[in-house]
Amino acid sequence: MRIEQVSPHAYAVVAEKNRLCDANSGLVAAGPGLVIDTQSDLGHARELQDLIAEVFARPPGLVVNTHEDLDHVFGNQLFDGAEIIGHRSLPERLPHAADPKRMARTVGYTKQPITGRVFRWLAPGAFAAVEQLGGDYDFAGIRLVPPTRLVDDRFSLNLDGFAVELIHVGPAHQEGDLLVHLPAERVVFAGDIVFRECTPIGWRGTFDDWRHALAAIDKLAPEVIVPGHGPVGRTDATGDVRAYLDHVENAARALYDEGVPALEAAMRIDITPFAHWSVPARLYPNVERAYRGFRGDPPDKPWNFFKLFNGMYRLAQARGLPLEF
Ligand SMILES: [Zn+2]
Repeated sequence: MRIEQVSPHAYAVVAEKNRLCDANSGLVAAGPGLVIDTQSDLGHARELQDLIAEVFARPPGLVVNTHEDLDHVFGNQLFDGAEIIGHRSLPERLPHAADPKRMARTVGYTKQPITGRVFRWLAPGAFAAVEQLGGDYDFAGIRLVPPTRLVDDRFSLNLDGFAVELIHVGPAHQEGDLLVHLPAERVVFAGDIVFRECTPIGWRGTFDDWRHALAAIDKLAPEVIVPGHGPVGRTDATGDVRAYLDHVENAARALYDEGVPALEAAMRIDITPFAHWSVPARLYPNVERAYRGFRGDPPDKPWNFFKLFNGMYRLAQARGLPLEF
């Protein structure tokens, strides 16, 4: 990870890889100090704290979780003494979206010879995804700490005279999606509404919901956009995500109308304009998501992650895409 100053009071902490759980964090260095997102495990959260200490003299007093996914909340416990802020849905959603014991147990299966072999045989894609995660992260010792200050639609923070606005735009990527807006410096920490140089993926809501969230960012006219994943961007960062969503949804629509199953559709859709982004096999979950919209499935319908990762695995193998998640 590296820390990068993006405006007089704002810093982005950017993950070095750009795969599953390699999330960014941020810091607003004003008043008591506000941390945005706390990383995927305790080791990375400590690294985040060390980077923050290079630019901010005291332990930060506030933490915002941009949404409920584990890569944005698993370090919360190390910020003891800080008030944790998140959308009102987070206390209910967190145990479903970010269960540290389940993550540690699942990674453990891949590391035992017998369970590992059975897991790989039953679900090679899920095995590969969990093996990747277990290589990058250590989910031991994590205690889920939910936010205690809860945000509805909007919330204004005054950091000793420096204004920070929290704006709920979910469901789009997840239920509790919050933007962190610094109006005086035209910076938006976008959470996972914006991915850069990696293929976006989303879990709750519809493609239209996601486009509305992107439009909400554009309306703020930011000069700097710190994505949830990938390098810091400028104004065009939302346009790239929108172009991908439009492309996938349009292509998927034609194949859906022909009765082509989602995985087969993902085998056929041309992703040349986005082929340089990491994890191109996320095309499959995105096609599944588009199909959910065409069918009118409820936007909170649960996902079968085994099926999703296996589909990504098959897609990567069939199209010669990198086997990454
Ligand atoms: Zn994320």
